[in-house]
Amino acid sequence: MPAFRPLPPGSTIGILGGGQLGRMTALAAARLGYPCIVYAPDDHPVAAQVCAGHVRGAYEDGEALARFAAQVDVVTYEFENVPEGAVLECEKLKPVRPGVKPIHFAQHRLREKDFLRKLGIGTADYQPIRSEADIAAATALPGILKTCTEGYDGKGQARVADRAELSAAWARLGRRECILEAMVDFDCEVSAIVARGLDGATRCFPIGINGHRDGILRTTTVPSGLPATTLATAERFGVDLAQGLDLVGLVALEMFVTKDGRVLANEMAPRPHNSGHWTMDACATSQFEQLVRAICGLPLGSVEVLAPSRMENLIGDEADDWQRYLAEPTARLHLYGKAEARPGRKMGHVTYVLPGVLPAARPDASGPSTT
Ligand code: AMP
Repeated sequence: MPAFRPLPPGSTIGILGGGQLGRMTALAAARLGYPCIVYAPDDHPVAAQVCAGHVRGAYEDGEALARFAAQVDVVTYEFENVPEGAVLECEKLKPVRPGVKPIHFAQHRLREKDFLRKLGIGTADYQPIRSEADIAAATALPGILKTCTEGYDGKGQARVADRAELSAAWARLGRRECILEAMVDFDCEVSAIVARGLDGATRCFPIGINGHRDGILRTTTVPSGLPATTLATAERFGVDLAQGLDLVGLVALEMFVTKDGRVLANEMAPRPHNSGHWTMDACATSQFEQLVRAICGLPLGSVEVLAPSRMENLIGDEADDWQRYLAEPTARLHLYGKAEARPGRKMGHVTYVLPGVLPAARPDASGPSTT
């Protein structure tokens, strides 16, 4: 007998954050009979369009957070930069899954890399940059300088060839606490998305191969076409991370595969991940349903691949082509209900579900390659 009681369908899930990840979580939850209430500071978060309720408040507003937590049975979050204080506030009233530990590490690149290393997960060489003395002593060159906090989708980063460029880049980033990571000569990027249940059971979705442009994820293709040994290492790193975080929920670990076949972790996100959107259309259980199962104490679902697939993000005005995607028989269109298509903004995605043999996976693939 499990030492915990599952939250039965009909229980209410609270989601901190109102973006597309919250929206797709709420849709998956509704399918299993769980209504969701979203907490977000904006007037019309896209998740609220599909939720039973919306509590509007700042992440620092303890009173509004308490009002939110009082209405739900379990709380999760859909972005890792939710302030720790907001999670602690909710924890006073209801379980928060995955809790404060994962965001403590995910919000700070140095802490994150130290933690990964402690778990025996490989990373590029890195060092802290907090002073001119650190720059003078820097050896992880050529490299990428990244702010420790608040960077995402390639923002708050600079590629630097030598110490002179490093010094100039650090000044441009406002002399904030940074991490310098050695440039990885990678063959491709992959991600492991791992669910861990209340009973400690883990399940990793099949590893997808990711293509980026301008620091933003563009495509994920499954199967990846990578050697089984590489995939096994990537999966082991993901599972070790989920266990190391004592996580109940989902964690995504983005990794590089080097030209000589090593796997090096880049960053983690303790929530559903863009590179797992393919699971909605081409896997027995979607990553969003898996999150709902984990946080409600249900058994985790099968991660069997139903068909080869490639997910492509629709960024900015690319979503204006919605009629073309609707006309494409292999395409499954997902739009996020965002009113305004700003450049670089994720407006939706399309998953090409390709029965039969998928053309060889290419990280930079784009378009419906059915030929
Ligand atoms: P991040 O914000 O850390 O996810 O970085 C965004 C993208 O920059 C990654 O997906 C990679 O394509 C690239 N990148 C980040 N760190 C490195 C690195 N150490 N070496 C090579 N490329 C990197």
